[in-house]
This record gives sequence, C-alpha cells and structure tokens, in this order.
Amino acid sequence: MNIFQEVESEVRSYSRNWPAVFDVARGSELWDVDGRRYLDFFGGAGALNYGHNPPALKRPLLEYLERDGITHGLDMHTQAKADFLTAFRDRILKPRDMDYKVQFPGPTGTNAVESALKLARKISGKESMINFTNAFHGMTLGSLSVTGNSMKRGGAGIPLVHATPMPYDNYFDGKVPDFLWFEKVLDDTGSSLNDPAAVIVETVQGEGGINPARVEWLQGLADLCQRHGILLIVDDVQMGVGRTGPFFSFEEAGIRPDIVTISKSISGYGLPMALVLIKPEHDVWSPGEHNGTFRGNNPAFVTATAALHEYWSDDTLERNTIRKGEKVQEAFTRIAKDTTSVELTARGRGLARGIEFAQPELAAKVCATAFERGLLMETSGPSSEVMKILAPLTTTDDELDEGLEIIAESVKTVINGA
Ligand SMILES: *Cc1c(COP(=O)(O)O)cnc(C)c1O
Repeated sequence: MNIFQEVESEVRSYSRNWPAVFDVARGSELWDVDGRRYLDFFGGAGALNYGHNPPALKRPLLEYLERDGITHGLDMHTQAKADFLTAFRDRILKPRDMDYKVQFPGPTGTNAVESALKLARKISGKESMINFTNAFHGMTLGSLSVTGNSMKRGGAGIPLVHATPMPYDNYFDGKVPDFLWFEKVLDDTGSSLNDPAAVIVETVQGEGGINPARVEWLQGLADLCQRHGILLIVDDVQMGVGRTGPFFSFEEAGIRPDIVTISKSISGYGLPMALVLIKPEHDVWSPGEHNGTFRGNNPAFVTATAALHEYWSDDTLERNTIRKGEKVQEAFTRIAKDTTSVELTARGRGLARGIEFAQPELAAKVCATAFERGLLMETSGPSSEVMKILAPLTTTDDELDEGLEIIAESVKTVINGA
C-alpha cells in the first residue's frame, strides 16, 4: 500500500488510470519520480493550454514572488490586478469590440458558473434555467443542477431542481430540426415549462464527449434567446482561452453572450483563477453579494498577464491551433478508416479532439494502452466512450506526431486484442 492508498480518499480518480508518481513537467512533457518521460495530451483537462511551466510566465512569477509582491489580496486593488485588467482590456476585449465587465469569483470554474447562475436570476427575477443534454458545468449544487451526467448529479444527494434540459445540437443525429422542442414549449401556454431566466451552454461539450455544436446552431440559440428575452450564458471554462482557436470559443459564431464564464487556462500556469464576464447593462451585483477568499490570487494575475502579452498580441497561436487541430482530425479520421471491425468517429474543433468508440469500453482500454507507451489522455462522454485529447496548444509538431503515432498503435493493439 502506498501513501496515496493509505491516506488519500477513495474519491481520487485520474491517479487510478495513471499509477505513476509525477514530479517534473515542462511544456507537453512530464517525468515521474523514476525519470520516465510521458507526453501529456491530457493538458490538465484544459488548464494547461500553454503547457507546463511556460518560461515566459515563470520568469515574471518568480520575480514577483522574489520581490514580495502581494500573494493574497481578496478583492483589494493590487498592481498585479490592475496589470491583468489592463492587458485583458487591451489584448482581448477591445480588439473584439467587447465592453464586458470583469468579475472575479472564487478561483474555480464551478464558482464562475455559480456566479453566472445567481446573476442571471437576479437580472431576470426568474429562477428557472435551461441546460443541455450531456452538459458539464462543475460539481457544486448550482452547477450540478445544469449538468447532465447522472453519476455526477447523484453525488449531490438532494434533488437538483430549477433547470430544464433541452436537446444539444445533434442529439437526434440531425433528424430533428434545431430547437423544435425548445421553441414549441416556450410558445405553448400548456407546456408547463417554467419561464426561464437563462440558457447555459458550452460551444463544444468537453466532458460530454467532445461534441461541437455547429456554428449555425449556436447562432440559432442566440437568436432564440434574444426573441424570447432569455439571457445567454456561455460556459467557456474549458473551450475558452484558445482551445478551439480564437480566444473565446463563441467568436466563430459571431454571437454576444450576456454572461461568459472563464477559468481553467486563464492563469496560463495552472494556477487557480476564474472570471465572469458580464455585459455592462447586466452588472447589477451589490457589493459583496458574491465573494470568495481567493478571488485575488495575485500570482495567477501575474502569469495571466504575461500569457496575454506572450500569446495574444497577434494571431500566431490561433492559427497554429487551428492547423494542429486539422492535423489531429486527419490522423483520427485515418485511424477510424483503418479500423474496420469497430465503428470509430473522429470529432472536435480546434485542439479539442476525440474519437468515439461504438463499443464504449474500448476508449478506456486505448487510453490505458497509450499510457503504457508513455502518453496521457482521458476519456469523456456519458459512457466514457470518447477518447479525448486536450494537448497543450504549444505542443510541437514533432510531439504531436509522436503522440498521434502512439494513439494509432494503441487503437490497433486494443482492436486486434478485442
Ligand atoms: C471544468 C469545467 C467546469 C468546472 O471547473 P472547476 O474548476 O473544476 O470547478 C465548469 N464548466 C466546464 C465547461 C468545465 O469544463
């Protein structure tokens, strides 16, 4: 029995799939205590879009700590926060003609989602939410109430209420017109639908199995919300900060959500940080109405600011993400085509990519086989039927080729052994 089995709770999960003790990490590589190297296509579940310990972020962080820059500051004004807000305004909001207000909730994704739900209820005076099938929004009660997965919902131990699920894009394999049910129950005074405050949506469902919504579907949703006076919340916790190419995953659709949640890769260094972006007319919070001890994670502001300057002063990262994503899609499509005995489907957007296995249990087997060959990736989807990669956007072409080769070999090994 090791220290983890002896002391750590049964709730631990990733460590069960990857029984190594990791110690050092750089870029897209990890090393365990025995010096074994792994390629990281898991990417901190989307928290490491710039890889592990990127030097351009580490240097300012070390300098900040060395000079006793403020680490903990609640929501006091600090120089580090001023620098972040200035960089976020100038590098992200202004060039996109977005005049959103920035709220710092507690430093996790689920805290951003809880804030967004609270705020939408306060703005609208309504309590009901619309969420989508297979959505994932976090593990606290409000976020779970708009999350699809029954195992995760079950953990709440109480009824999860005030949300109505609607079919996500392609839920009926393209056989049903978009929003057929949604529009019908909204317009029908006999439908029993509670008048919704807001719709919460992911543009690509990450935990839900790398399901990208089509641009037309997202535009249709924004239009529906506008026509019916429903607030639109985009949860960009996993797909934002460049994962799909542009900084915000909804840019391609040209939509303007009322509220946007951001977390995971915003600090750029794997440090906890979250944002809620609010259209100015909706910033109806009273002072302190939502708060949190770790809103002012100043070391995260320092690395986040450095990341905005390093990666978002031109479109190099965005273009490379799209190019690398296409390369992964080609490789996955080839793997699917070469596998005749089981149906595989490649899908995703940008560098959020996956392969769906018609026999769900094979996805986990491929991930386990890839781990033996030194590659980290995880499964997602309601039956864990999707092998998912969120490789750092900074993964080099050589590393990408190496990982894709391991994936192709692992699929072959598992299918031939099945
Ligand atoms: C990870 C995730 C969350 C929750 O973030 P935590 O930091 O784990 O609380 C919320 N929404 C989406 C889309 C996520 O991927």
